[in-house]
Amino acid sequence: MEEIKTPKRPIIYYMLIVVVAMLILNLFVMPRLMNRQFEETSYSEFLDMLENGKIKEVEIQEKQILFMDKSDPARYYVTGIMDDPDLINRLDAAGVTFTATIEQEASPWMTLLLGYVVPLLIFMVVGRLLMNSLMKRMGGEGLGGNMLTFGKSNAKIYVQSTDGIRFSDVAGEDEAKELLSEIVDYLHNPGRYAEIGANIPKGALLVGPPGTGKTLLAKAVAGEANVPFFSISGSDFVEMFVGMGAAKVRDLFKQANEKAPCIIFIDEIDTIGKKRDGLSGIGGNDEREQTLNQLLSEMDGFNASKGVIILGATNRPDSLDPALLRPGRFDRRIPVELPDLQGRVDILKVHAKKVKMGDNVDFDAIARMAVGASGAELANMINEAALRAVRAGRRFVTQADLEESVEVVIAGYQKKNAILSDKEKRIVAYHEIGHALVAALQSHSAPVTKITIIPRTSGALGYTMQVDEDEHNLMSKEEIENKIATLTGGRIAEDLIFHSITTGASNDIEQATKLARAMVTRFGMTEEFGMVALETVSNQYLGGDASLACSPDTSTAIDKKVIEVVRTQYEKAENLLKTHMKELNGLANYLYDHETITGDEFMGLLEQMKVPAEPAAAAEPTSAAAETTAPAEQTESKTE
Ligand code: ADP
Ligand code: MG
Ligand code: ZN
Repeated sequence: MEEIKTPKRPIIYYMLIVVVAMLILNLFVMPRLMNRQFEETSYSEFLDMLENGKIKEVEIQEKQILFMDKSDPARYYVTGIMDDPDLINRLDAAGVTFTATIEQEASPWMTLLLGYVVPLLIFMVVGRLLMNSLMKRMGGEGLGGNMLTFGKSNAKIYVQSTDGIRFSDVAGEDEAKELLSEIVDYLHNPGRYAEIGANIPKGALLVGPPGTGKTLLAKAVAGEANVPFFSISGSDFVEMFVGMGAAKVRDLFKQANEKAPCIIFIDEIDTIGKKRDGLSGIGGNDEREQTLNQLLSEMDGFNASKGVIILGATNRPDSLDPALLRPGRFDRRIPVELPDLQGRVDILKVHAKKVKMGDNVDFDAIARMAVGASGAELANMINEAALRAVRAGRRFVTQADLEESVEVVIAGYQKKNAILSDKEKRIVAYHEIGHALVAALQSHSAPVTKITIIPRTSGALGYTMQVDEDEHNLMSKEEIENKIATLTGGRIAEDLIFHSITTGASNDIEQATKLARAMVTRFGMTEEFGMVALETVSNQYLGGDASLACSPDTSTAIDKKVIEVVRTQYEKAENLLKTHMKELNGLANYLYDHETITGDEFMGLLEQMKVPAEPAAAAEPTSAAAETTAPAEQTESKTE
């Protein structure tokens, strides 16, 4: 292999440099350093010093006199010799010692040490460091095991709970915890499983959207299991040079085998486990494929009875190579889904333990508001609330802090000094009341809980929040249709009142289109297409990219149908609003004045204003039944 040879040449260069440097050092630098430096003085100066008794030792040579200062023995002087017959007497009189030689050179041992040994040691240390970094970049194997740390997996080893995270720190996710505790249990007493002859899975894959606690769960497993825990991220395997990632995988499993029973955790495994696409050779796929192949063969190569269990985590399970998912490898799939209502309450409570909470806090209400929030977002909400309490100079967190923090996480911070012109503010008020009114006038719509026209940093100029009373996992056709109608309400209100339309509805349009499209292509809710999947969704945990799976003709028909679905709902909503213009005006003015109103205020005002004899007011009482799955609040992003 080419890349194995390359590092040898730098070694030769380095050695050459060392030899040259040593030569220079010993031929030129050392003699100067080692020889004492003699200051040149005049003969008269010498005599002066001699008379004043400042000289300690003297050496008379053929052409010069070397002498040593008495007060400062490190100072040497040299002076030319003069024809001075009295010299000996003078020296005698001054009581100066004669020596044959004032040592000019340090001892030979010293020379050897300073000239060769020390520099050589320095060069060796520097060389080692250089080689180290070189190896890291070069990659490849075969330079011999003692070749420094190259190819090491860099896996962090947690032995027991280093950061003290236990299963109790992970709220909700009971199924995942149950499956994982089985693994922990196996590692604690493998004998019980062996007795029956049960095989413990070799690998388990934690799958779910970002921020749902996959990494957290793995850490909790490390905390619960009394075994070494190797943790490494998939991206750590991605290297510039072919073969390097594979070497790391090999090393990781070697280490793990030595430490068995143990757990290997590979986070973000999709970085190395992506489907092999047969396009190798083009670009950098070679490296990734080699790494994956190595991982596959290592997973096959060891015997689970030894007690090495592999955990993986990913939010892109559909992009994983099928070979990775077959039985005997990651044969257990542990879904880590977004928390349900109870899960959200529990997660809020877990994180609330770390901050001081007021007595009035109702976690249930907060959890209801935070539909669709992940564990990470909920943790963030608690923290935002704590920050808000500090800013307000309070010593504990109140319900209002939490409510505001939910909105911060959903819609961004309030833009206190954003300047809306009076006209714009009025338009936004009508827009939001348009949404709220359509929602309130339909059955199967989540009740409105808050309407606000205070701009947020996310770009929303206002929003209407709807919160369900119960958790629902299914959404009926009527609910989706009503939701689309509600989404169109904002634009309709603008149009009805101001006879002009704005960019403010762009986000509504996007959401409505998505829903209508899904009705047609994925939910089988139209007569024309029936129960046919016309789109496939990939990346379901990361927003979901839908790709069409039908002929171009069908695709055109789908587009037509989508437009029709939205238009029908638009007309329905328009009729509702047209027959409730009085309410629309009254409520919008009220919102304009108050900027934020609660759902109760809204419903109260609506009841007061309702014209009893309106025949077209097809408003059944707002029922408790309502939608979910999709986030129940709408945010208006306004392009600016
Ligand atoms: P991911 O699934 O993307 O790996 P993490 O495990 O990194 O998510 O979660 C990020 C943070 O969110 C955690 O550190 C924790 O504070 C919080 N969190 C997420 N899920 C939960 C949960 N079920 N219980 C408690 N906290 C959670
Ligand atoms: Mg993670
Ligand atoms: Zn809107």
